[in-house]
Amino acid sequence: MESRFRYLGGGRWVVEKMTRWVELAGRVLFPHFCLSCGLEDQLLCDLCKMQYALNRGVLFSVAADLETVRCFSAGRYADMVLRSLLHQYKYGRVQEAGELMTDFFLRVVSRQITAILSGLEEPIVVPVPMSPINLAQRGFNQTEIFARALAGDFELELDKKTLQRRFAWRPQAHLSEPQKRIKNVSGAFFVRSGDVSLVDREVILVDDVFTTGATIIECVRVLRSSGVKKIVIVTVLKG
Ligand SMILES: [Zn+2]
Repeated sequence: MESRFRYLGGGRWVVEKMTRWVELAGRVLFPHFCLSCGLEDQLLCDLCKMQYALNRGVLFSVAADLETVRCFSAGRYADMVLRSLLHQYKYGRVQEAGELMTDFFLRVVSRQITAILSGLEEPIVVPVPMSPINLAQRGFNQTEIFARALAGDFELELDKKTLQRRFAWRPQAHLSEPQKRIKNVSGAFFVRSGDVSLVDREVILVDDVFTTGATIIECVRVLRSSGVKKIVIVTVLKG
């Protein structure tokens, strides 16, 4: 048994080393340039990283069923730099882009945290889930990563298991018409009984992109009908 464990440990070391070498080789062959100022070596240089989070963040509201839900978004989807970072992370699995997006998200949220948490009592952070098939295809749910970072930084409870998404729904990004988006997510979400009960809880619902609001509104509807008392929405980018 001992030798087997030693072998696994050695294997992991080799894989880590190789991953680092591949990353390094990739940097030499395809150098990174700051998406904002063009400086070489980083997707977003240190100076742009600092400046980019200044004066960002938008508070707005959305009508969901018969109530108005307070929303906060860290940035705009129309922003080429932020959109490019999110796409590189989401579709290209570029880890550096994910780290930069998370850093940007947390910097902006931290400046507005009082407004976001205003009127909430011990809120629980819930990410908008992916369907099991989409999750298996991508390998990770970027929204869950943002939600986890938010919960971790502000010492909030995280629940990624109770709100679930059924399989076989088309990704919203493939649909442009609002009516098609609403129809596409209708019935897509459900609340399952598990370790955490959301009844009478206050929820910070997290999504990566707010476009027409169809996905978020459907989640709000399902959460409210499952007994959630209050919901505040936090998204990374707003379309
Ligand atoms: Zn720069």
